Amino acid sequence: YQVATMKSIESEIQQLKKDHDALLLAHFYEEGDIQDIADEIGDSYFLAQRGQNSKAKVILLAGVVFMAESVKLLSPEKTVLVPDLAAGCSLVEMSPYDDYLAWRRAHPKALCITYINSSVAVKSISDVICTSSNAEKIIASIPADREVLFGPDRNLGSFLMKKTGRKMTMWPGSCQVHVLFSSRELFLLKVKHPQALVIAHPECSEEILKYSDVVGSTSRLLEEVTRNKSVNEFIVATETGILHQMQKARPEALLIQAPMEGGSCGCNHCPFMKLNNLEKIRNSLRDLSPAVEVEERFRETAKLSLDRMMKISRGESVQWPSEFNQ
Ligand code: 13P
Ligand code: SF4
Repeated sequence: YQVATMKSIESEIQQLKKDHDALLLAHFYEEGDIQDIADEIGDSYFLAQRGQNSKAKVILLAGVVFMAESVKLLSPEKTVLVPDLAAGCSLVEMSPYDDYLAWRRAHPKALCITYINSSVAVKSISDVICTSSNAEKIIASIPADREVLFGPDRNLGSFLMKKTGRKMTMWPGSCQVHVLFSSRELFLLKVKHPQALVIAHPECSEEILKYSDVVGSTSRLLEEVTRNKSVNEFIVATETGILHQMQKARPEALLIQAPMEGGSCGCNHCPFMKLNNLEKIRNSLRDLSPAVEVEERFRETAKLSLDRMMKISRGESVQWPSEFNQ
């Protein structure tokens, strides 16, 4: 009965997509059944870019709200749906607008790079946005004589600071999922699986990244599993949803989830990503709701920061303000 119900929801989704000229985009952390029905799956940069470039009138973003807001900022004329408006992100919660504004005002000469995992309001008081797949390019584009602020993910920022050698002042935020991995348990697991390659998302803590062979965005980690055929065992330090595509790409490979404290591997689920399901997607496409809206007072300046990211990612140059004046 349940399988029959799922099948009928899937065919309703396909029909509704045609009726509304809708594109269904999903992040790698969504459940496998959502990934399987999506038109395209990707990391946060890919989703923003596809949402912007698509000719579809309606974009349903099966992911978290900041991802849908980014598409809406880049393409205000489109209807951008999310299955559940409660799909937030701990990084958004840890960077309240008023505090971020005070931080910026305390460093008026600095340029501020803000991770895409942030609210529209915080984007509007930033100079440029980055994702984990384009951050190095963004940092390289900032004139060497400028002071740099980086927020709201301290782990990603510290990793980038080491990798690029660029000094940056960090905002103290983190991802509630990626900080739960235990370096002690990871070490023990590595002893049991000496052949395994440790692959990690840069939102993980420094102690985890120290033990990692490859650090990158979700699409980079998937690429490693797909392409690196000389390795058959991978310890994966990121949200479990990505394992679905990894296992599809390499059915014969052993994929081991990185362990949490006490050895369990049950909490590397992002509770926000996992709010979505096929039923909510069907309802959202049927009702064209909930649609994300962007507060008008933040729209223009938030779009400017996001546009700078898209331009730098395409290899174009951008203009920087000489100081922060909001
Ligand atoms: P990616 O851009 O690597 O997909 O990361 C998004 C995210 O939220 C990681 O927690
Ligand atoms: Fe935010 Fe972490 Fe979830 Fe990514 S995994 S959406 S950073 S809470």
